Amino acid sequence: MSTATPPSIVRRPNAGGPELETARKALAQVFGYHDFRPGQAEVIAAVLGKRDTLAVMPTGGGKSICYQVPALLAKDGITVVVSPLLALMKDQVDGLRQAGVPVAAVNSTIPRDEQARILDAAVANRLRLLYVAPERFGDGQFMSALRRANVALLAIDEAHCISQWGHDFRPSYRELGDVRPKVGNPPIVALTATADPLVREDILARLKMRDPVVHVAGFDRPNLRFDVVRVKNQKEKSEQIAERLKGLGEESAIVYCGTRKKVEEVTDFLQRQRIKCARYHAGMTDDDRKRIQEAFARDSVRIIVATNAFGMGIDKPDVRMVLHHDMPDSLESYYQEAGRAGRDGEPAECVLYYSARDRNLREFFIDLSHPEARTVVEVYHALCSYEGRRVHIREVMTSDDEPGVNAAIDVLKDSGLAGRQGQMVWATRPDGDSEIDTAGLEAHRAHAVAKLDAMQAFATSVTCLRARILDYFGDEQHELACGNCGPCVAPPSARATNAAEDELFQALRAVRRVFADEANVPPFTIFSDATLHDMIRLLPRNKTEMLAVSGVGQVKFERYGEAFLAVTKAAAADRGRTGPAGLVPAQRGQGILDGGSTVKRTLDLYRQGFDIQGIGEKRGLARATIMGHIEELVARGEIDDVAQWVDELTIRRVRDAAGGVPVGPLGPIKEALGDSVTYDELRLARAWLNRGR
Ligand code: ADP
Ligand code: ZN
Repeated sequence: MSTATPPSIVRRPNAGGPELETARKALAQVFGYHDFRPGQAEVIAAVLGKRDTLAVMPTGGGKSICYQVPALLAKDGITVVVSPLLALMKDQVDGLRQAGVPVAAVNSTIPRDEQARILDAAVANRLRLLYVAPERFGDGQFMSALRRANVALLAIDEAHCISQWGHDFRPSYRELGDVRPKVGNPPIVALTATADPLVREDILARLKMRDPVVHVAGFDRPNLRFDVVRVKNQKEKSEQIAERLKGLGEESAIVYCGTRKKVEEVTDFLQRQRIKCARYHAGMTDDDRKRIQEAFARDSVRIIVATNAFGMGIDKPDVRMVLHHDMPDSLESYYQEAGRAGRDGEPAECVLYYSARDRNLREFFIDLSHPEARTVVEVYHALCSYEGRRVHIREVMTSDDEPGVNAAIDVLKDSGLAGRQGQMVWATRPDGDSEIDTAGLEAHRAHAVAKLDAMQAFATSVTCLRARILDYFGDEQHELACGNCGPCVAPPSARATNAAEDELFQALRAVRRVFADEANVPPFTIFSDATLHDMIRLLPRNKTEMLAVSGVGQVKFERYGEAFLAVTKAAAADRGRTGPAGLVPAQRGQGILDGGSTVKRTLDLYRQGFDIQGIGEKRGLARATIMGHIEELVARGEIDDVAQWVDELTIRRVRDAAGGVPVGPLGPIKEALGDSVTYDELRLARAWLNRGR
């Protein structure tokens, strides 16, 4: 990163103590989770110790628990949670209510009389948490209620919105710095996924945090598999994305595009390929956007093609793929968007499609938002020469760089030096001696360029992508090569599920859907996919066993437990009859080749003489998926001839580069052998050399 690290980062050792034990109990009782995720315990310990705390955790890392658990424990007061987006707030409130926690939200969508009732409940301490939009703090009635309530904790979610250095700056956040003294001086916990040091410093300063604990928690998301696919042109991107989406099955995915126009093009292209998907960008009506968001949350739309306008409000946990058609402006943006995959902790894929010209688009955007200081000064002087009169923008066109001039006028407008109405512009302080902060402008521009450089370095990396991300975010403890990203290329996981398991999952989902429809909430607020998978793993037969499932707390058990139990009990009885192979997740060496399994079907087609392409087409699966099956089959000795995919000489070179068998991670071997071999060849050569081991 380009800038200095903040001085106050404290990494606390895993804290224990009786308070944390109580917190752990609440975590299990209410949320049904058996232990804290990396960082949660440390942050909660700081909050319970009444310290001001900044928690920096990646998207999906579990930030909400960091204030929700303390809120449950602080019984003599209420926790006020500031959240920038209504949709986000609604999901949180729905989820907590499902778990039996008394919560409410106050925002512009709630009728006045209901707001009054909610505020009465807050004052009477009948709510544990109150979610509010930042604008509320400007409302007299609301503030007077908060003054009467006992505010135990002020939690600021998405805290980077307070910083102009961040990518989501929101003016309404700026006032938050003055809120604390008006509500009885509670401690503050601020939460963000942004690791930019300038932004972190800004959060601390603007919220006036006192002797804060700054906790940078595990940025690693081990279940995400990163890859960059390099392509020659835009057309190839769409084709490859279509190909990859065909392997998605019934799961959900997001395809991010750099512009609205691209969203339109890519959506049209995919739909022509008969891939069902919906578009989403800021140019659509609010109603349309809301409809699409809800359809996605409720699984009636599986694939969304979107600009980065799609996401802040989405906390759907079971997104299985996030594909980037275009390179984002920074690794922060990329990780935030990619991080919307696999929030449930189950394996998910994040793929960036990159072509050498992608940087141009990003530079164009930088020019638009950060014009060169020289242009700004020139345009300003040109404006002033008209002494405040309105002139057509053509008159101040100091160069033929029209976007640059437009951008300059925007900057001047933002700093109050110019006005603009359509094509007419004027100087608001035409005496012309206002200082333009050229150093500030240059700094912003340089900051943006440095971020783009880091992003591009990731896109063109030939070494571990995960390591690059973690280095960038300042998370130091990680392996040099993760073994689970494009450049590392790990062997295919043994995660192939068998048919019985699939069926059971569908049955559990059906039960979940009934409850979700009844309560009119998204299915994941009942139980996440991860929880359903845990049910399949444990097959509980009674209440105690069901409570051992991750994600099943007391209240949820009382509401839904029996219905899910009915399904798992029956399956457990079945297992008793057929023996364990029928239902336990497939392990290497068992289950994976059972009749009807996905790998078995690939093998059958292979034996009928189909090649990889043919099998993929027949099964409607991506080439990469079939490739993974073939690799698995070669490794198991089911396919005993690889000559059609990789020649003898290459196999020998792979063995030599690996220093003999068994052959380990492919990253170093690829580095040694260079472009003369493809990863597909490497993977098959390794499977062949390691077969039967
Ligand atoms: P963030 O706000 O950091 O993006 P969330 O707070 O929405 O992430 O949490 C992401 C998901 O992880 C949610 O489904 C949440 O219920 C789950 N989760 C959080 N903490 C834990 C935990 N300790 N154990 C298991 N799951 C957890
Ligand atoms: Zn890696």
